[in-house]
Amino acid sequence: MSRRGGGRGPPGGGGRGRGGGPYAAGPGGNCVCPNCGKTVPHQVGVPCYQTKCPSCGATMVRQ
Ligand SMILES: [Zn+2]
Repeated sequence: MSRRGGGRGPPGGGGRGRGGGPYAAGPGGNCVCPNCGKTVPHQVGVPCYQTKCPSCGATMVRQ
């Protein structure tokens, strides 16, 4: 439990590098499916609204 007085913000630190795993949330954030709720890492250069949900095929939106 880490409480930070503020509310929201990027998790502290940063600069952990990438390549942690297929679910590593980068600085780009995630895209979420409004239909089934699935989230996928946002791909750089590919807007979420151009990404299709791998589960149901719906258009993803920015999380
Ligand atoms: Zn979906």
